[in-house]
Amino acid sequence: MRGRVLLSLVVGTVLVAVAGLRGGGQAPAAAPAPPIAAEPVEGATAAPPRGGIQAFDEPLPDALSPRNASYEIDVRLDTLRKELTGRETVRWRNISSATTSELQFHLYWNGWRNRDSTWQREDRLAAPPARRQETEPRPEDAGASDVTRLSVTPAGGNAVDLTPVIRYLAPDDGNTADRTVMAVTLPEAIGPGGSLEIDIEWTGTIPFNAARTGWIADYYFFGQWFPKIGVLEDTGWNTHQFHRVTEFYADFGVYDVQMTVPAGYKVGASGREMQRVDNADGTTTHTYHADDVADFGWTTSPSFIEERRAFNHKTLPSVEMRLLLRPEHRGQETRHFAATATALEYFGEWFGPYPYGNITIVDPAYQSRSSGMEYPMLFTGRSNWLAPETVAEPEGTIIHETGHQWFYGVVATNEFEHGWMDEGMTTWATARIIDEARLPNTLAVRTFGTFLPFTPGVPLSREVSGNRMPTYRPDAEADAQTTPTFRYWPRSAGSITYDKTALWMHTLERHLGWPTMQRVMAAYYDRWKFRHPRPQDFFQVVNEVSAQDLAWFFDEVYRGSNSFDYAVQELKSEAAGQGRFRSAVAVQRLGEAVFPVDVVTTFADGSRATERWDGKDRRMLYSYDRPSRPVRVEVDPGQVLLLDVNRTNNTRTTQPRAAQAARTWSLTWMVWLQELMITAGFFG
Ligand SMILES: [Zn+2]
Repeated sequence: MRGRVLLSLVVGTVLVAVAGLRGGGQAPAAAPAPPIAAEPVEGATAAPPRGGIQAFDEPLPDALSPRNASYEIDVRLDTLRKELTGRETVRWRNISSATTSELQFHLYWNGWRNRDSTWQREDRLAAPPARRQETEPRPEDAGASDVTRLSVTPAGGNAVDLTPVIRYLAPDDGNTADRTVMAVTLPEAIGPGGSLEIDIEWTGTIPFNAARTGWIADYYFFGQWFPKIGVLEDTGWNTHQFHRVTEFYADFGVYDVQMTVPAGYKVGASGREMQRVDNADGTTTHTYHADDVADFGWTTSPSFIEERRAFNHKTLPSVEMRLLLRPEHRGQETRHFAATATALEYFGEWFGPYPYGNITIVDPAYQSRSSGMEYPMLFTGRSNWLAPETVAEPEGTIIHETGHQWFYGVVATNEFEHGWMDEGMTTWATARIIDEARLPNTLAVRTFGTFLPFTPGVPLSREVSGNRMPTYRPDAEADAQTTPTFRYWPRSAGSITYDKTALWMHTLERHLGWPTMQRVMAAYYDRWKFRHPRPQDFFQVVNEVSAQDLAWFFDEVYRGSNSFDYAVQELKSEAAGQGRFRSAVAVQRLGEAVFPVDVVTTFADGSRATERWDGKDRRMLYSYDRPSRPVRVEVDPGQVLLLDVNRTNNTRTTQPRAAQAARTWSLTWMVWLQELMITAGFFG
């Protein structure tokens, strides 16, 4: 998902920017950091441990993935009753080393079943107090998933009806009002390698314009819409409740899905269209097939304009791109296709090829809350009626969502627990692509409910706006990334998941150099495609490929919640006779977090002194005896440490000249303007 930033954050940014200039400005009270997990990081020479969370997650012969959770689904949309009725057969195989006596399923739409569901409670916490009233759920907006029948058939056995023993679990918070996790006890426990068929019938009450799903006007988007089995890990079931700030986690399978909608409605779905049959009752059944995916999303509307174009590349496999565009965005076809192709090209060249032959781009309805969302082989963009050519929207969202095909789609991390692994990596890569592909990227401020764009011509940089420093800064110490993402404080979760990761991934890229970072990411993608890596599996690849032990860095950025702030404290010089000058440069660590930085002093004769400071002490003093006075000192002039929350204190100059001062002043205002307005523009 692209992430949503409230306009009210602009105010917070101003206050923190002001406080930051005064040398203070720490983030609001943070949740206590969890105990630091003991995660051994192997050295470059050690044999890599297998890692992962399932003992037998090998691909099937002639398949890309283990295919241990496959679905055959038949679903019918009733547009008058706003209802889905469906039946599904799940073919499930236990690829863990655990034996289980029960099955667990997600029923995500029950997150909108009542006002006391965990999703609704968290939604109220996420809204600023003044706006909480607006987040009270209205009965007519409710969504629900009601399982009416559930039976299991063990391999070689007979079907057993388990409908009477359906129960609900709340593993995350014990909330008895939450019905987003369903469980049934099996007649017989199932061990490693065992398999089952599960038949489920259910009714879905379609919510009005809920997060990532629901209906608005004649547009329907279906995400998390079917009863879905959880992931059985070596340590047991990992089936989290539906949370406001986190997404999903599932095993790979083959999907065969029949969707019956009113005749004339166009359908887009994960996978490839196999068949379209008109029925006697005025409906049409659309059949889609997808191999080696871990989820299935779809959309339908009579209003879509449909177009197809090919992505062809000299070394990457061809991809058929299909666009379902809203009529009011007619004319933006090329921008949608070009952005998708740009993402397929860069992600493909840098990290590894897109493994599916087709992709569907969905342009959501005006004001839909399904915009900027990813499903395997299908994603939603985000566009506006007026989309200035100088602004990287819809491109930014499209590149981000296409990128999720790699990080969440193919490398299927647990988004409930490690949201940074999909959202943060995708945010980092998107900013890199916008920069590398030289896409027009200037500020747009939207007013009148995002309707009218104002474009003052301010260029946006990858380092600041792409990495989202303005939204990270006020939340820098809000949570540590070792905390499972669903436990983050709802209002600052986005900053820690998206912004902090983009900043530390870019810092890591600058520390290692892009060629090494690119090899890291390609190795990570190759080793973990169609599997479920954990954070330490990623760190392991970084250490191996870079041939360095970067535990110190991951301790700071992943296990820690401290912020980085290096500054120049003092720059002094005095004549020492015989044309020489004695000079002193003092630099400071104002934040709790540590990172090695360069300290570069420039002298009046143009000479320079570069010091490598390990950044550990609170203060470091450098003395020089030279035939020239220092005129400028800068900490981290290469801007490697992009996590530094206050760059305005990184430089000190002597003898400011009027012209320089004026330029510095105007640049400061430029940065301020960017930072103030960016929340409304770039993330909108
Ligand atoms: Zn995302």
